[in-house]
Amino acid sequence: AAKASGKNCFVLYEPEMTASAEYRFKVEQCLREAVELQQLNLVYQPKVDLTTGAVAGFEALCRWSHSQLGPISPIEFIPIAEQIGVIKPLTAWVLTCACRQAAHWNQISDADISLAVNISPSHFLDSDLVGLVSGVLQETGLPPYLLELEVTEALVQTDQLNLVTFGSLKAMGVKVAIDDFGTGYSSFASLSHLHVDSLKIDKYFVDDMLNDTKVKKLVGSMIEMGHSLDCKVIAEGIELRDQLEILQTFGCDGAQGYLFSRPVEEDQVPDLLQKATLFT
Ligand code: C2E
Ligand code: MG
Ligand code: MG
Ligand code: MG
Repeated sequence: AAKASGKNCFVLYEPEMTASAEYRFKVEQCLREAVELQQLNLVYQPKVDLTTGAVAGFEALCRWSHSQLGPISPIEFIPIAEQIGVIKPLTAWVLTCACRQAAHWNQISDADISLAVNISPSHFLDSDLVGLVSGVLQETGLPPYLLELEVTEALVQTDQLNLVTFGSLKAMGVKVAIDDFGTGYSSFASLSHLHVDSLKIDKYFVDDMLNDTKVKKLVGSMIEMGHSLDCKVIAEGIELRDQLEILQTFGCDGAQGYLFSRPVEEDQVPDLLQKATLFT
C-alpha cells in the first residue's frame, strides 16, 4: 500500500509496480509448479510436403493454462522458464512426451512421420542435451532420424556454440533445423560449416511476400540458398493459397500453417495421418 504522505513521488507508482512484480512472481511460482507437476500440455502442428500435401511430420508446441492465471503463450512463458532455470526439466518433459507420441504414430502409419521439438538456444549450448536426447530416444524407441531439433538463429550467431554438442547430436542421427530463419544473424560461414538439415523461413517473409515483390524475390533466394547448403526449406505460417502457390513455384520443400492445419491435440493426429493430402 502507498504511504499516506505523498512527499516521495516514487510512492505514486509503487502500487502499480508492486502489482506487476507480484504478477510476475506469481507466474514464476506457478510455472515452476506446473513444470514440476507436469501440468503443461502439448499440441502438434503438421509439416506438409509441398509437392504432395501429405503430412511429413509434426512439430510439438507447448501449451500452459493455469487455473487462476488462464492460458499463457509460450512466447511469454518459455523465456521465463529459461530465466528461472526450469527450461531443462521442461524440455525433458516435452521431448519424452512428444517422442512417445511420435513412436506411436510411426506404428500406425506406413510412412515415416518425423517429429520436431523446439530447443531453447541456451539449452542447445549445454552438453547435457546429448544425454537427454539419447536417453529419450532409447526409452521411446523413436528412430533418431525421425527427430528434428529446432533452434533459432541465436544459436548460429553465438560464439560459444558447443560444436561438440552439435556434432554428437548429428552423429546420433538426429536432425537439426534453424527456426525463424531470416530474422536473426546467422552468417553464411557458420551455416555452411554447421550442416543443419533444414531452414524454416519465418512467417514474417511468408506474410510480406504477397505485397512486396522484393520480399517475394528474397524468399526465392532464401530457398535457393538453402538448397545450395543441402538443406530442406520449410515455410512457416502459411495462411493463404496464394502463398502456397508462390512457394511451390520456388521449389520450397515443406510448409506449416493454418491453411493446412492449426496445431492439434494428440487425439486428432491419427485423422490427419489418414489423409492423403492436406491440400484443399
Ligand atoms: P515456432 O517454433 O516458430 O512455432 C511457430 C508458431 O507459429 C507457433 O506458435 C504456431 O502455433 C504458430 N503458427 C503456425 N502456423 C501459423 C499460421 O498459419 N498463422 C499464425 N498466425 N501462426 C501460426 P506458438 O505455438 O504460440 O509458439 C510460439 C513459439 O514458442 C514457438 O515458435 C517456439 O519458439 C516457442 N515454443 C513453443 N513450444 C516450445 C517448446 O516446447 N520449447 C521451446 N523451447 N520453445 C517453444
Ligand atoms: Mg519451431
Ligand atoms: Mg518459427
Ligand atoms: Mg517463431
